[in-house]
Amino acid sequence: MSLSLPAAVVLSFLLLVPQAASSFKADPPMVCGSCDAWNAPHEPFRIFGNTWYVGMAGVSSVLITSDAGHILLDGGLTQSAPAIDAHIRQLGFRTEDVRLIGASHEHYDHVGGLAALQRFTGAPVAMSPIGLRALAQGLPTDDDPQIGFGRAVNAFPRVANLRAAGDGAPLHVGPLAITAHHTPGHTPGAVTWTWRSCEGTHCADIVYVDSLNPIAAPGFRFSGDGARPSQVEAFRRSLDTVAALPCDIVIAVHPQAADLDGKLKRRAAKPAVDPFVDANGCRAYADGIRTRLEARVAEEVR
Ligand SMILES: [Zn+2]
Repeated sequence: MSLSLPAAVVLSFLLLVPQAASSFKADPPMVCGSCDAWNAPHEPFRIFGNTWYVGMAGVSSVLITSDAGHILLDGGLTQSAPAIDAHIRQLGFRTEDVRLIGASHEHYDHVGGLAALQRFTGAPVAMSPIGLRALAQGLPTDDDPQIGFGRAVNAFPRVANLRAAGDGAPLHVGPLAITAHHTPGHTPGAVTWTWRSCEGTHCADIVYVDSLNPIAAPGFRFSGDGARPSQVEAFRRSLDTVAALPCDIVIAVHPQAADLDGKLKRRAAKPAVDPFVDANGCRAYADGIRTRLEARVAEEVR
């Protein structure tokens, strides 16, 4: 068969020019002091079994895969979302096969990319009911410790197609099951997610732990101040929850908070025990935050 010239030209063009990997449409980039560092590039990699790191250098995103569709956790900044899409493809998966998106906490550096990822995949975004209120309005709720920094700092693209994730109730995608643990503290709607991944007969309990960092805008008191009740008891319960989780592998929403790159580097040396597997990881994480929280509360009562 002979091709007319235009057809041959078109065919060679199709064969020689790499196809656009994706028609992903991001929201406008966010501007902030840490945004460039958070959004610095990071290679995607397999954490364990069907669990993959697809996030950036300073804000995490995790993909859990199955033949019946995938679960994605967090979307980073608005400008992280196209990279997350590219990372998923780089690993050989299709972002369009994401069936459920979970969110950790309602701050722009973790949920900024969710609106675009939601539009592209059509997947619902799951979170605690308080977190969903924030996602729907594109702004944390009034009791958020950082809301005092102002609307311009705190706003993010509003997210549609929301699904409530009950405390301790698993959500399913095909054979996948993921459980939300409500861990208020850093934000009122914060969620820590858990699931189980296997490599053959070897299975690991994986925890995607929220920030739990007692950071607040000037004037905010975790211990309450007449205008607002104390949030300390709920915060302490969240730390107890995290410390008690079945936890073989812990990934933090800011990856360095659980030493993601240190573990990755040590793993490259192929040690007998995978550095990502640490039965004490969640307890150590919670203990570290507890020290900071109690120091912060002690300052507040002075
Ligand atoms: Zn935050």
